[in-house]
Amino acid sequence: MTSDDLAFDRDHIWHPYTSMSEPLPCYPVVSAQGVHLQLADGRQLVDGMSSWWAAIHGYNHPRLNQALQTQMAQMSHVMFGGITHPAAVALCRRLVAMTPAPLECVFLADSGSVAVEVAMKMALQYWQARGERRQRFLTLRRGYHGDTFSAMSVCDPDNSMHNLWQGYLPNHLFAPAPQRRFDDSWDEADIAEFAALMETHADSIAAVILEPIVQGAGGMRFYHPRYLQRVRELCDRHQVLLIADEIATGFGRTGELFACDHADIAPDILCLGKALTGGTMTLSATLTTRVVANTISNGAAGCFMHGPTFMGNPLACAVAEASLALLQEGEWKQQVAAIERQLRAALLPLASHPQVEDARVLGAIGVIESRQPVNMAAIQRFFVDQGVWIRPFGRLIYLMPPYVIDADRLARLTQAIEAALDRPDLFLPA
Ligand SMILES: *Cc1c(COP(=O)(O)O)cnc(C)c1O
Repeated sequence: MTSDDLAFDRDHIWHPYTSMSEPLPCYPVVSAQGVHLQLADGRQLVDGMSSWWAAIHGYNHPRLNQALQTQMAQMSHVMFGGITHPAAVALCRRLVAMTPAPLECVFLADSGSVAVEVAMKMALQYWQARGERRQRFLTLRRGYHGDTFSAMSVCDPDNSMHNLWQGYLPNHLFAPAPQRRFDDSWDEADIAEFAALMETHADSIAAVILEPIVQGAGGMRFYHPRYLQRVRELCDRHQVLLIADEIATGFGRTGELFACDHADIAPDILCLGKALTGGTMTLSATLTTRVVANTISNGAAGCFMHGPTFMGNPLACAVAEASLALLQEGEWKQQVAAIERQLRAALLPLASHPQVEDARVLGAIGVIESRQPVNMAAIQRFFVDQGVWIRPFGRLIYLMPPYVIDADRLARLTQAIEAALDRPDLFLPA
């Protein structure tokens, strides 16, 4: 890439959550292989992000590439209205088999946010079909569910800046974020306010929506499995649907195949995305039970009212199917466990560092919460100079590497974080 390309990018292309007038620098990547990103200037970076939870098998994986090539030679796309194809059937067979037993009906969509829209619409249509006016959602503070409007309406009202959308977003119910951590002893008080909200508003709540166990983009917090069990019990008692947003946590990241498995519960509606295609293409899936699906289908509308143009895209389905096949061979379990051990050994002792507020690890996720927010441009440059790709936000410096990373590469990631903590110039005033 020439400096002219970079100038064009700066002047004309939006990146996630950036300013057009004062964009942060972008690093040109020209290829990626295994756990490495190749910069245009020849430097190689060890990837600590899996491209936001997605590239679990590493980049340029021969089996994923083969699946894409084989599918491309058949057809890259065909409409899904009135047509089906082998790639979608093979993928959905695997999804139904690997997710908790009650989830049998699959809706394929384009992105995580759309999977959440679909899940919320399913819940609304379910109650409409049952002739009950239930239109509110109950969720947790510090949650994140995506950037489209319904998804935003259930994101944390403070750090997602709901005030930007005052009067535009529907007013949903927010319980406090769970306080008992994953490894803590359980305390019933943690669920009390959630239970009270449920008690008061049950008749108007269509569904609870939450990220099971790991609250991701809203703070990288790991909460107690018992909390999730209580939520399931309360939903059953009040006949409220439970939507589990496993877009980030799905497919092994937390040490279980799905985060719901830590609590041994099944949701009524499950959202999947991110790692679904092994990080190669955008695709999401919303699964639900036969009961929910039949209720919606027997309602006044007679169908579920959603159908994206690129629904069930064959290329995306084929590569997702290959990614799930790789996953189901089972190596992820040892890989994630080894990453967890090493992250614990390397990161947890940093909790006593004066710059560190908290250090926590779950599965292949390692988090350092600093006392001061990072200086984004400075810390990004520092990490790149150290030969690693780590992208913090706010006070969170975190790792979620591809499962295939080896111990030496992982050590380079944790050492880079340790080195950054000793550099006050990489942080902003608290
Ligand atoms: C990333 C994410 C989403 C949104 O997915 P997109 O593909 O970015 O639209 C929704 N929920 C959770 C928990 C996520 O981590």
